Amino acid sequence: MALDAHILIVGAGRLGTRAAERMCTAGAKRITLCDYDLVLAENLEEQPLYTSADIGTPKAQAAARHLNATYPGTRAIGIPSMFSPELLTDDIMLIIDGTDNLGTRLMLNDAARAKAVPLLIAAATKGRGMVFPVLPKRGAPCWQCISKGKVSADDCASGIDPVVADMVAQEQVRLALDILHDRPVEPELTLIDGARNARIAVHVNPACEACRGHFEYLGAPFSLDYCASRERMIARPNAPRVIDLMALRADVGAAGIIKEYASALLVKLGGGSALVHAHGQIEFSGVESSAAQEFAKRVLRVR
Ligand SMILES: [Zn+2]
Repeated sequence: MALDAHILIVGAGRLGTRAAERMCTAGAKRITLCDYDLVLAENLEEQPLYTSADIGTPKAQAAARHLNATYPGTRAIGIPSMFSPELLTDDIMLIIDGTDNLGTRLMLNDAARAKAVPLLIAAATKGRGMVFPVLPKRGAPCWQCISKGKVSADDCASGIDPVVADMVAQEQVRLALDILHDRPVEPELTLIDGARNARIAVHVNPACEACRGHFEYLGAPFSLDYCASRERMIARPNAPRVIDLMALRADVGAAGIIKEYASALLVKLGGGSALVHAHGQIEFSGVESSAAQEFAKRVLRVR
């Protein structure tokens, strides 16, 4: 492998854009970014790749445009979509995780393991971050080995320290270059807290399904995670979806609607509410996880 290897970066937010720029600086030739979010005014400060002219356009495409303009040696492609296993085409040699939730990360882990592609996991909260390489080697531990049964530590709302985000991206790119240049990489978890880093050896977890070749997250139609900073459950479809909000509105009835937005519908659910986005993400507030699960199944039409 070398710098002309095709690299997939999943997520074009705080971490993904930083990793993408550093990979371009390091000489990467082919980068594909995927993200279904749009650039918002509030992103500009924490995601320096974007400018005010990008507001309202898909992050993946805006990021690719800037990278192509700044780094003529790189060919960047932006796909305005969430990650789904179909995006992992046979020519992709490395995946860089720039997501902000455990559900997508577990699916990435399964997809990377199933296709024997190295994956560089990253996560960050306000003051801390971590990086872990999932290596396609016999006996190497994976992300599920570490995270099985744990609650996501991501902070999807309140922002992360830009210094921590820089250090996380830097560590991902260091590992990426080692992998691309066929240098040895250890399956160590790197913990970053702004002031100092620690490396912890990781071993295969006997309870890990992915390490036994059973990829439960690849087949799952959606994931349901708890976001601690927003104190709500979030359902995310595992493939691009378009929800018929008109049909949902008719289904729920006028009494069940709390508020209508251009591309989302806030509906009553039990004693709480569910914000259904047209792209399929559902945010639950004051709803039990079993009720959230049932509602997500119904809206996403899962049998
Ligand atoms: Zn594992």
